[in-house]
Amino acid sequence: MPLMEPYRVKVVEPIPILTRAEREAAMVRAAYNPFSLRADEVTIDLLSDSGTGALSAAQQAAGMRGDETYAGARSFFRFRDTVSELTGYPHIMPVHQGRAAERILFGAVLKPGQLSVSNTHFDTTRANVILSGGVAVDLPCPEAADLDNAYPFKGDIDLAALAAKLDGPDDVGIVVMTITNNGGGGQPVSMANLTAVAKLCREHQVPFFLDAARFAENAWLVIQREPGYADHTPQQVARLAFDLADGAVASLKKDAIAHMGGFLALREEGLAKHCEAILIATEGFRTYGGLAGRDLEMLAEGLREVVEPDYLRARAAATAHLAELVKAAGVSVVEPPGIHALYLNAGRLLPHIPPSEFPGHALATELYLAGGIRCAELGSLYLGEEDENGVLVKPAPYELVRLAIPRRVYTQSHLEYVAETIAEVAKNPERVPGYRVVEAPALLRHFNCRVEPIR
Ligand SMILES: *Cc1c(COP(=O)(O)O)cnc(C)c1O
Repeated sequence: MPLMEPYRVKVVEPIPILTRAEREAAMVRAAYNPFSLRADEVTIDLLSDSGTGALSAAQQAAGMRGDETYAGARSFFRFRDTVSELTGYPHIMPVHQGRAAERILFGAVLKPGQLSVSNTHFDTTRANVILSGGVAVDLPCPEAADLDNAYPFKGDIDLAALAAKLDGPDDVGIVVMTITNNGGGGQPVSMANLTAVAKLCREHQVPFFLDAARFAENAWLVIQREPGYADHTPQQVARLAFDLADGAVASLKKDAIAHMGGFLALREEGLAKHCEAILIATEGFRTYGGLAGRDLEMLAEGLREVVEPDYLRARAAATAHLAELVKAAGVSVVEPPGIHALYLNAGRLLPHIPPSEFPGHALATELYLAGGIRCAELGSLYLGEEDENGVLVKPAPYELVRLAIPRRVYTQSHLEYVAETIAEVAKNPERVPGYRVVEAPALLRHFNCRVEPIR
C-alpha cells in the first residue's frame, strides 16, 4: 500500500543542509557527542520523538482559546474531560511532563525498600522509583532478549517471573506496565498480557499502573497484531487497557503530539487527595499543574488527533517503510519494528569495533558525518558499566542506535534520505572507526562526555 501522510503542509521551517566539511567541523566542536550539536548543525533530527512533534492547525487554534485563569480555568476542564473520557479515570492531574507524574505517584505509593516491578522502567521512571526509596525491577518477556525474533509482543512482561515476585519474600509496592515498552525497543504490550498482569495484581492486592506515553501506538499495534481486536478503534483498545489498571502516568510529549505536558490519572479518591497535595506543592494548582492554559488546550486536541486511524496507519507505515529500506541495504534492525523508533543493530554492522570502543556511538557519529542525521546510541556508552579507571567491565547486552521518528515532522522523502545515508555507510562499514572516552561525568555520561575517534 502506498504510504501517504494524511495531512498537507501549511507552515514550513527550513532545515540546515551542510557540507561534509562543515559537519566534520561541527563534530569536532561537539567532541563527537551528538547531544552537543546545535540544532542548526543538524539536517534530520532523530534524537527523540519527545516534544518534537508538529502541531496541527486545530491545536494552534485551540491554543488561542487558552484560558490563563489561575484556578478553575476553562482549559483545565476541557483537558480533564478529554483525559477522563479517554482513560475512564475520575481524578486527572495535569503535570509539566511525565517524570513529574512519576515522582508524585511513587512518592505517594512506595514505602522505603518496596519494589516497583515493570516490563521495563523508562530511565526517568527508574530514577523516580529510586528517589522514592524503592527498588526498580525489570522483568521483560524472554522473547525480548532476541533482537531477531519477530514475536509480535516483545513488550510483554514475563508473567511467570512476575507471579514469582508477587509470591516471593520481596514487598512489591507497585506494578508498572510501560506501553509501548520504550526501554525495550518500543515494542508493544498485548492486551492478553495486560489482562493477566491486572489479575495477578488484584489477587495480590498490589496497585497496577500504566506508563502510557505511547498508549495510541500500543493500541494500533494491538489492532494489527493481536487476534480479536482488528475491528476495534484505537480509542476502544486504549480504553480497555486503562480499564485494567488503577491509574496511569503519561508523558504527553509523545502521544499527545504536543511540546510539553503530562498527566497523573487515578481511580481511587484517597490516593488522589494525597497526590493532589504534592502536586500543588511542587507543580502548581490542581487546575494547571505546571502548564499554561494554552498547553492544556493543545494537549486535549492532540489526544483526539492521535487516535485517528489514518494518522496511526501512516505513522506505522512510515517506520515500516524505513525499516524495509534499511534491511534491503543489509543493516539489521530490532525485529519486529515498532512505531516511534527504529533500532539499528550496530554491533552486527560493525563487528571490527569491540564494545569497549562503542560501535553504537560509532555508527551514530558516522550517520551525522555522512548525512547530517542526528541519533543516539543505546549501547555500551549509555548502558555499559566501567571500573574506577574508566575501563569497560560490563558491556551493554546489545550495541544499538535509535532512530526516533518525530510525529508529523518528516515526510517519506526525508526518511528515504535517511535510508540512503545508512546504505552509504553500510557499503564500507570497516572504514568506521571506534571511539574512546576523553572526559566524562560520573552520572549519565552519554549526555555530556567528550570522545574521540581511534585512528
Ligand atoms: C518520555 C517518557 C517518560 C518521561 O516523560 P517526560 O515527559 O520526558 O518527563 C516516561 N516514560 C516513558 C515510557 C517515556 O517515553
